[in-house]
Amino acid sequence: MRKYNASRQVLVTGGAGFLGSHLCERLLDQGHEVLCVDNFFTGTRRNIDHLLDHPRFELIRHDISLPVQLEVDEIYNLACPASPVHYQHDPVQTVKTSVLGALNVLELARRTKARVFQASTSEVYGDPDVHPQPESYWGRVNPVGLRSCYDEGKRCAETLFMDYHRQCGVDVRIARIFNTYGPRMHPNDGRVVSNFIVQALRGEPITIYGEGAQTRSFCFVDDLVEGFLRYMALEESMPGPVNLGNPREFTIRQLAELVIELTDSESELVFKPLPADDPQQRRPDIALARELLDWEPTVQLREGLARTIEYFEELLQVVH
Ligand code: NAD
Ligand code: UDP
Repeated sequence: MRKYNASRQVLVTGGAGFLGSHLCERLLDQGHEVLCVDNFFTGTRRNIDHLLDHPRFELIRHDISLPVQLEVDEIYNLACPASPVHYQHDPVQTVKTSVLGALNVLELARRTKARVFQASTSEVYGDPDVHPQPESYWGRVNPVGLRSCYDEGKRCAETLFMDYHRQCGVDVRIARIFNTYGPRMHPNDGRVVSNFIVQALRGEPITIYGEGAQTRSFCFVDDLVEGFLRYMALEESMPGPVNLGNPREFTIRQLAELVIELTDSESELVFKPLPADDPQQRRPDIALARELLDWEPTVQLREGLARTIEYFEELLQVVH
């Protein structure tokens, strides 16, 4: 029988990305063998440089929309561009990565009897008219809009995960991840936290889309990864979905002002058009995660931003 602390062979798809690299690190710390599969679409070697010489770490360059044959005990499926700029760059590939990627990891899980985690997203709720969002909410997604390659791709992946669970008995875990930030975000990926920090550090204008009245709830990466590990460690079958995120909600304007304060920047705010279908509000209801995993975020936005700013300060010195 599986034991939580026993050393396992763990596959992390998207392991060279922002979240994936932190997850690989934690899994190595727990004593597991880590197979990191990535095609470097948005991930970088820099994120995993420090792991490459680790005796229990292996990097495999591979596109997860193509089948993969490996022997594994556990799978975390994180491969997918996550920022609107990146996932809209090649929307057809985004759908392929989400849907075919899900099929490929599920087939692998079925064959190897591995437990498999899906990095789903709060985007499955679209521009929500229920607030905060509980897992029981079915969402309000535009199926033909610019964001739909990602939103509908992730929704279809959830469908596949549930159907492999019901039809084939695969042990699946679907986590709906809300906006997460921290060191190793890509400096040019266009997400709000990295954009604002990089702009503030360079003294460039801070680009607020719309009036900045839209809200998001920001979770620090360490808190999120702890949630992943607790969810996968549950011995009873629990397909989910389970929301993981920080329930403290901020307007985008508040975030900009906090970043300016923490970086001591002289950057000014500039207002740009709001992108199409940009959700007006987002906050997770994490009652289920609290009950099931005894989990909730512990890092306050101010502290998490300070740690992220430190990372970008160093990175920008290296890059320039
Ligand atoms: P990221 O872009 O930093 O990481 C994604 C990784 O997947 C990258 O290393 C990329 O190279 C890799 N990848 C992309 N397409 C691939 C393919 N076809 N084959 C193999 N590798 C591929 O993004 P992230 O923030 O680390 O997100 C990781 C996962 O978490 C994604 O699935 C994303 O949808 C989900 N998620 C993230 C957030 C967030 O706020 N960070 C929120 C909700 C969901
Ligand atoms: N945003 C912004 N300025 C930026 C980047 C993003 O005002 O430079 C806004 C964006 O319109 C959205 C919010 O910040 O309302 C979060 O955007 P992000 O791309 O980080 O994530 P998502 O929209 O997927 O939650």
